[in-house]
Amino acid sequence: MKSPIYIIGGGIIGLLSARELAMAGETVAVLDRRELGRESSWAGGGILSPLYPWRYPEPVNRLARWGQTAYPDLARELLASTQLDVEWVRSGLLILDTAEAGQALAWAEQAGVPLVQLDDRSLHALAPAVNPAITSALHFPEVAQVRNPRLVTALRQDLDDRDVELRERVEVHGFESCHGRLHALHTSAGVLPAERAIVAAGAWSATLLTGTGLSLDHPPVKGQMLLLRPHPRLISTVLLNDGYYLIPRRDGHILVGSTQERTGFDKSTSSAAREELRAAAHAMVPALADAEVEKHWAGLRPGSPQGIPIIDRHPDIQGLYICTGHFRNGLVMAPASARLLADMLLDRPPIVDPAPYRIAAGSRGDSAFGDSGLSRGAGPHEVGATGE
Ligand SMILES: Cc1cc2nc3c(=O)[nH]c(=O)nc-3n(C[C@H](O)[C@H](O)[C@H](O)COP(=O)(O)OP(=O)(O)OC[C@H]3O[C@@H](n4cnc5c(N)ncnc54)[C@H](O)[C@@H]3O)c2cc1C
Repeated sequence: MKSPIYIIGGGIIGLLSARELAMAGETVAVLDRRELGRESSWAGGGILSPLYPWRYPEPVNRLARWGQTAYPDLARELLASTQLDVEWVRSGLLILDTAEAGQALAWAEQAGVPLVQLDDRSLHALAPAVNPAITSALHFPEVAQVRNPRLVTALRQDLDDRDVELRERVEVHGFESCHGRLHALHTSAGVLPAERAIVAAGAWSATLLTGTGLSLDHPPVKGQMLLLRPHPRLISTVLLNDGYYLIPRRDGHILVGSTQERTGFDKSTSSAAREELRAAAHAMVPALADAEVEKHWAGLRPGSPQGIPIIDRHPDIQGLYICTGHFRNGLVMAPASARLLADMLLDRPPIVDPAPYRIAAGSRGDSAFGDSGLSRGAGPHEVGATGE
């Protein structure tokens, strides 16, 4: 019997890749070392746009635009198939620090993205709770958001209904190849014969791939978030100021994000970050000065150079594919990344030019994976917890 396509990692990238392949008629199994979707994809904010999009290279914006277009249908399909509302809401994005207005407007015009520059009066008419000391803003009216935990929960149910095998608490330790072809996965549940597999292990992908001769510059980047007690109708637009953001959820909860810390695989939270995020929230919306923090958590973003993910075949192991390194924009890029990966795997015409997402030539270390061999990733140690 033919083995399934194994997807290593059940975050948003792995789950949407599984859905694409299952919809194309493939037999798919998702393996996750923890519960599905409980890492970065649960921890994130769910803003469906790069923050300050003009600062990103075109390959990131290209996948993001494709994802933005795909989300309304995805949300509708998931609601129909699972009765779960992922809360896709076109709340818009207000950028309150406008020093780069010229670049932003030029980028938006060239990209065909609606963007309006607001003066003092129109800003406060749109968002009366914003600090009166802030007197201008950039408004991206079409930016939407989703609620991450609901999205991964709905996807999980959708995949279950499509007979995708979902295996939790199965950790992949390494790959076995024979004559340059993938032959098996070595896992905590034993050796699984495998002809095709996808590494979608987020911040852990690079470690897993070191044993295959790849050396990726993909460090984990910790982000801490706060969830504030419901403040119904205080704000209805995502606010961004000086790198910090506020995301209003439909039930009045407000998320405050986020730090960027390079502290390895440590997911602990700190009181310093809590105060930093509270101060940032207060600076944007004074009425949040005494807001009660309901939850505080951290997640590990899968870092990558310029935030450009790798969506490619492994250079030395036929049948092994890689989809990782989505850094700060994994939610918004996920539908496009998953489709592009499926196009590659199924030899279909690609939705976008795959060239920018190839593994860089310099990523092949000295110990390139041999013709036949066994690789093992170095197991990262971690502490801490994640969750909205
Ligand atoms: C605080 C924060 C805020 C964010 N905000 C946004 C935002 O607003 N918008 C946006 O687009 N993006 C945002 N992001 C980024 C986004 O969340 C990530 O880019 C995205 O979730 C990455 O998805 P992933 O599937 O690659 O990784 P993950 O969700 O981390 O999934 C990887 C999975 O692989 C599993 N795994 C790891 N190693 C193994 C192994 N050896 N064997 C089996 N399973 C394994 C893990 O358990 C995990 O479930 C944010 C991230 C953070 C942390």
